[in-house]
Amino acid sequence: MGSFASVLVARIPERLGIHGKSRCRSCKKEIPIFDNIPLIGFTLLRGRCRFCKVRISFIYPALEIFTVIGTIFIVIHFDSWLMCTAWVIFLTFGLALSVIDQRNKRLPDVLTLPLYLILLSLLGLDAALNNHGAKFLVAIASSLLLALFYFVLNLVSRGGMGLGDAKFALAVGLLAGYVNAFNAIASTFIAFFLGSIVGLIAIKAGKSTRKSTLAFGPFIYLGALLGPWLSPLLRQLLNF
Ligand SMILES: [Zn+2]
Repeated sequence: MGSFASVLVARIPERLGIHGKSRCRSCKKEIPIFDNIPLIGFTLLRGRCRFCKVRISFIYPALEIFTVIGTIFIVIHFDSWLMCTAWVIFLTFGLALSVIDQRNKRLPDVLTLPLYLILLSLLGLDAALNNHGAKFLVAIASSLLLALFYFVLNLVSRGGMGLGDAKFALAVGLLAGYVNAFNAIASTFIAFFLGSIVGLIAIKAGKSTRKSTLAFGPFIYLGALLGPWLSPLLRQLLNF
């Protein structure tokens, strides 16, 4: 899944298909299958192309390591295999979306909408098999409300918050809301909390101004990922 996230990051912004063999970005030679083995290929090649020796971005093995660690946490936390699958898919797509948003300042529909549909099917199936109809309704409501929230922010901020964020919020609200409604709110709170800290640091460091836009996708993603672990703590703190 980590390698798949790398493929999405490398190809989606350039509108390349996700099928077909990977090529070196510099010499365009096809990458042999054994050089493409996650983490091992990169380590054996010492981070350089076998043919032209150009450096391979460290972002690719980093995405693979992040996915492995995230998957371990997910498998420990969730009991149902359908939930684990849904969360690992979110981990992968969300990671690719976050890197693309950071680099290109957009969240492509070609990723956000399929992500939403996949999560809708997996969680719908989980709800049907385990008699979680009420939970699924909370998830649908959270999804629509969160998307509406980001859509309103898009209008008030005159495009400062992108429409892509609202479409990404459809998927995030569904997944976070299926845990419970409080988790959906807590995840959003964590996203804004992290976003403001990073925004302030960037302004202090002189790397951005109050007017420059911060890609918000990565914060929505991190908020959703941290939600299931942090929302019980927040709940205790607030005595809710
Ligand atoms: Zn090369």
